[in-house]
Amino acid sequence: MVHTEETLARLAAIPDLTVLPGAPLSRYTRFAIGGAADIYAETSSAEAFIAALHVARESGEAYVVIGGGTNLIVSDEGFRGIVLRFTARRILSAGERVVADSGAVLQDLVDFTVERGLKGLETLAGIPGSVGAAVYGNAGAYGHSIAERVRTVRFYDGRDVRIFDNEACEFHYRESVFKRHKDWIIFSTELVLENADASELRKISGDIVNVRNEKFPVTMKCAGSIFKNLLVTDLADGVAARVPARVIREGKVPAAFFLEEVGAKGMTRGDIHVANYHANLIYNGGAGTAADLRAVIAELKARVEQKFSLTLEEEVQYVGFPDAPRP
Ligand SMILES: Cc1cc2nc3c(=O)[nH]c(=O)nc-3n(C[C@H](O)[C@H](O)[C@H](O)COP(=O)(O)OP(=O)(O)OC[C@H]3O[C@@H](n4cnc5c(N)ncnc54)[C@H](O)[C@@H]3O)c2cc1C
Repeated sequence: MVHTEETLARLAAIPDLTVLPGAPLSRYTRFAIGGAADIYAETSSAEAFIAALHVARESGEAYVVIGGGTNLIVSDEGFRGIVLRFTARRILSAGERVVADSGAVLQDLVDFTVERGLKGLETLAGIPGSVGAAVYGNAGAYGHSIAERVRTVRFYDGRDVRIFDNEACEFHYRESVFKRHKDWIIFSTELVLENADASELRKISGDIVNVRNEKFPVTMKCAGSIFKNLLVTDLADGVAARVPARVIREGKVPAAFFLEEVGAKGMTRGDIHVANYHANLIYNGGAGTAADLRAVIAELKARVEQKFSLTLEEEVQYVGFPDAPRP
């Protein structure tokens, strides 16, 4: 691994960059699964991050950017290459506008806005992870998503720092332009909110957090929902006809409906389990492996495909699997 040694030396020379060779990625994922990365590097400095990115690109080694690791499945073999993380977490406001660095914790942003009586993010309460990844995947819950409040996104496209307005971000359900441009790194986002009563917002977000903590206990090693829900308009007529109207919410059929129909609840392989109360929730009991996790996911997809001729799409992102799309 002479190449990695050289890369390591070049990364170590970048001021403000923390560089860890052989870092176990299980420590950086909520699933608590994943082998070591050749190199893990993090910084809260945009300049250092850009310098690290250039070293990574010039090295010819693979690299990947992660946030809080709450939506990742990392291979048991880890990642052959460089894992980068941008950790700047400033959150600033001016009137109804708020700017948040992408390394800020989404919940901190929600709390920040709620405490200032700024309405618009309270239903995102309890979604784990960072602001940057929330923009990347257009995170949302309770019928709302972050896209509704994003005014601009500041990102690095590999050559320049650029700013996109909301339209250019091409937000859709759990999608954005950033998912299609894996080399674009989000640095910060500006959001526009509305003045409202802080105590009402606090009640909404507090109630949501309580419900979420019941469904996803804070210590649960998981990624929330494994599969994306499905827009009714995207379903083939034959499939849509088999979905009872009562399960459709905000124009979407929960993936859990199809999963439940194929007996997913309570499925177990090794120490990987499908929750017995939620067919789209898979967790690691503590000794689970990525291999078993992927096998369960593959089995569930195959069952749904066989019964409904429908391919479920993962919401989780894969790291370190040569046969899976790069996150
Ligand atoms: C218990 C639980 C409940 C959840 N509930 C919800 C929910 O209700 N709604 C929902 O939408 N999600 C939910 N999720 C999924 C997860 O919280 C979101 O996907 C979250 O946005 C991921 O944030 P992260 O920082 O952990 O990102 P990571 O998991 O580290 O990364 C996710 C993706 O974002 C990319 N990324 C990260 N940072 C950047 C950046 N700065 N620039 C460009 N790309 C970047 C990564 O490359 C990766 O592809 C849940 C997860 C858990 C564990």
